[in-house]
Amino acid sequence: MDVTAIIESLNDAQRQAVSAPARSMLILAGAGSGKTRVLVHRIAWLIKIEHISPHNILAVTFTNKAAKEMRGRVEDLLQISARSMWIGTFHGLAHRLLRQHSKEAKLPDTFQVIDSDDQLRLIKRLMKVLNIDDKKWPPKQVVWFINAQKDEGLRAKDIHEESDDIYQQTMLQIYRGYEELCARSGLVDFAELLLKAYETLADNADLLAFYRSRFKHVHVDEFQDTNTIQYAWLRLLTEGQDNLFVVGDDDQSIYGWRGAKIENMFNFQKHYPNHLMIRLEQNYRSTGNILKASNALIACNEGRMGKELRTDDSDGDLISLYSAFNEQDEAYFVVERIRKWVAEGRLRSDVAILYRSNAQSRQFEERLMATGTPYRVYGGLRFFDRMEIKNALAYLFLMAHKGNDAAFERIINTPTRGVGAKTLDDIRRLAKEKQITLWQAMIELMKAGHFTPRAENALKGFVQLINGLAEQAKDLELYEQVKNAIEKSGLIEFHKKEKGDKGEARVENLEELVNAARQFDYEEENEENQSELDLFLAHAALESGDAQADDFEDCVQLMTLHSAKGLEFPLVFMVGLEEGLFPSQQSVDDIARLEEERRLCYVGMTRAMKLLYISYAESRRLYGKENHPRPSRFLKEIPAEQLQEIRLRASVSKLVRPKKAAKRAAIGTSGRYRLGQRVRHEKFGEGVVLQVDGEGSQERVQVNFAAAGMKWLMLSYAKLEVL
Ligand code: ATP
Ligand code: MG
Repeated sequence: MDVTAIIESLNDAQRQAVSAPARSMLILAGAGSGKTRVLVHRIAWLIKIEHISPHNILAVTFTNKAAKEMRGRVEDLLQISARSMWIGTFHGLAHRLLRQHSKEAKLPDTFQVIDSDDQLRLIKRLMKVLNIDDKKWPPKQVVWFINAQKDEGLRAKDIHEESDDIYQQTMLQIYRGYEELCARSGLVDFAELLLKAYETLADNADLLAFYRSRFKHVHVDEFQDTNTIQYAWLRLLTEGQDNLFVVGDDDQSIYGWRGAKIENMFNFQKHYPNHLMIRLEQNYRSTGNILKASNALIACNEGRMGKELRTDDSDGDLISLYSAFNEQDEAYFVVERIRKWVAEGRLRSDVAILYRSNAQSRQFEERLMATGTPYRVYGGLRFFDRMEIKNALAYLFLMAHKGNDAAFERIINTPTRGVGAKTLDDIRRLAKEKQITLWQAMIELMKAGHFTPRAENALKGFVQLINGLAEQAKDLELYEQVKNAIEKSGLIEFHKKEKGDKGEARVENLEELVNAARQFDYEEENEENQSELDLFLAHAALESGDAQADDFEDCVQLMTLHSAKGLEFPLVFMVGLEEGLFPSQQSVDDIARLEEERRLCYVGMTRAMKLLYISYAESRRLYGKENHPRPSRFLKEIPAEQLQEIRLRASVSKLVRPKKAAKRAAIGTSGRYRLGQRVRHEKFGEGVVLQVDGEGSQERVQVNFAAAGMKWLMLSYAKLEVL
């Protein structure tokens, strides 16, 4: 093994960074310029050329996946095992440190890490004990407060209590109680991992000295997204050592909303005055057109550190812009392009669909599933597996089938309605004893006057709610039933009160469920004369679970723009470029947030290597509402020379543009239907034909009904009358 393997595949600036004498370094460079590659090769250089032991190297990356890849790439380059190298995420490394030094950390050696759901449950319990009204002080907001303090390195005792600030006083009271509770029971939440790891080093001089001498070289990828406590931890480890090697791109800072501090990049320059800064200006990832377009977009932001990016690659194809008629048409278009790509012999795993909000995934999932295209949703659950969706479905289940015990268990106290563990235990016991359903057991115990007045009241409310939903459902369309259930159950209210983006996303998902019900093809699925609701529930159950591709299967990648950071794909679809969605509604009036959205758009575009498709819908039913959004302002910031508008021959979008007469071409194999053909359906009334696909008995038609909206109908079932 010689030096050349480490150096030969690098350009001059990259070589300079990789082979520099030990000192602090900042690699500031745009997307796809080889920052991560430099970091990997730097580590290989240190081990192979500088004879540094892997044991002396620390590397922090953004995800476990990235960490695994980094270790693998170092091992490939060196043909040795790099097992003893500390490489991982901030949380993972903090955990490792605390496990090894639980005594110094003043933690029981059996301490447990709790996730955010556990944390929330704990806070709720504590608030009850402290007699703090969780209506007035939503527990989610408390969690948000506590984690934000920890991210800033602040314990309750460090915060000055303002005598006239009742909000702060209440939060601090809970924070103190929570700290005691966690200490007593040996529990450590995610934010605590970082803070505790920092304190453990700060308070134990010997330990700190040990790690300072152990980690002779410290490396950080995606440095622009570190928060205060993470940076403080890095500084502690490297103080007086001048051995911190960070790579980052201020233009890709996208976690400000979660406490990431772009200022850390400026602070680094102050705190490590001896550092060497290297800029990488050549992009190796994307074609000329993709790069020009991304550069033009990000140039609209102010206060950048300033970077140039060029490529030797050819211009490549123009960026394709597709204006979809609606969100279904968008999914249809994207999936058809993917099928074409695959039919040409290329890999599905080379394709990514990137969206702003998790709720958008459903349209694509359904279309991918309908065409039998394997896919995987990254970093996030598939739509029908999400907690809030399962809760909502459980209401629908229970209202239709009172004997569904799983649904009963799921929602009897969700949202919280004061049904305690004891009450629930009594119900379970009787059900088991008598072999009856939980619902029946509950009714019997109520009749027998078994419960305390408080529990009795809570259960009465629950029974009325479920019976009421069932009664009202008789006069409601399927989607109205769903809407009714998520509203009356209090689920919407419950998630609206949650602070932060998570609650928001859950509300959006719930509203998207209404949309799913509205679009549900009753005709297509009905075989056994089941009720429409039952068919819908079965459909939901089937769509969750194992339809997702296996690990080894070649599959299309679906993920939010946030989780696409650092990755690259030959073919990228960036979808939903609409005002109010991307940029998000909350950001449009706030310059700082808007700029973060623009950086997110830059991240998305720069994931693409060869082909980039951008799409938006002229009408979108999202979060349960029909919108006619304007195209995203980001589209106007991309130079027209880099864009080509895609027009499909039978594009439905032509229908809604009155100036251009729709081409009345026959579509579909039967030739029976024309684009714009007026038809009548027994149940849905009059509508207009938009698309036909499938063949023979599988032929189906999409109709926009004046009253009932968009529907896909199987031609072999649907009784359509041509007008
Ligand atoms: P991001 O900002 O998105 O994280 P990055 O700056 O970390 O991007 P890398 O992922 O390291 O960029 O590199 C982008 C692509 O360019 C990778 O496929 C990498 O292998 C390739 N690459 C980087 N440098 C070179 C080079 N000198 N010669 C050939 N290919 C290179
Ligand atoms: Mg990278």
